[in-house]
Amino acid sequence: MGVQDTSVLSAIETTPREIFIPEALHDKAYEDMALPIGLGQTISQPFVVAVMSEALKLNDRDKVLEVGTGSGYQAVILAKICRRLYTIERHKPLLDIAQQHFNDLKINNITAMAADGMKGWTQQKPFDKIIVTAAAFERPPDALFEQLKIGGIMIVPVGDRVNQVLKRYEKLDEDTYSITDILPVKFVPLLPDVPSASEYAPNELPVNA
Ligand code: SAH
Repeated sequence: MGVQDTSVLSAIETTPREIFIPEALHDKAYEDMALPIGLGQTISQPFVVAVMSEALKLNDRDKVLEVGTGSGYQAVILAKICRRLYTIERHKPLLDIAQQHFNDLKINNITAMAADGMKGWTQQKPFDKIIVTAAAFERPPDALFEQLKIGGIMIVPVGDRVNQVLKRYEKLDEDTYSITDILPVKFVPLLPDVPSASEYAPNELPVNA
């Protein structure tokens, strides 16, 4: 489908997608579509995972930040290519399941935290690359721009629920960016803060795959 980066293609080839998906949907694991993972969130479409990974121009020296761990699938693809991946998810129940998958797959270069990723990860900045897997409403959060190295790349969907475009920002100097539109996409929204425990009704907790 036009993705040519062989490191991305081989990371996808060697990552079993079904383990990131609730058992009832296992027969759809290798369809090229987003699927529900609980708490109203989704695992991204494999084609979009590949396009975003390729657009980051990853190498094995990169320190990367992902905002929106979700199932952990995109995180594993990235971690197979970069040096170290930091990933943030605002739903702790989803993060706990993703962390279990990282352990099971013996991926040991991922550090994961439950927090509001719109604030970035101050203690670990700066990052060579940043990927946001939820849609920023008008523009990416300032904290993420600030935590990106000069020369670094950030890939982020921007827009409302109806119209979203995947964008690539390259940081040219402290306050100058080049911006490229990559592809129309449909992501869940990037939301501020972390949910409180009382927001989780028992029957809304995700089913572990
Ligand atoms: N990369 C994921 C796709 C996850 S969907 C995968 O491969 O499965 C987007 C995720 O972003 C959701 O789980 C949502 O809870 C999370 N999210 C939304 N706003 C966030 C924020 N401010 N900080 C961290 N995570 C956020």
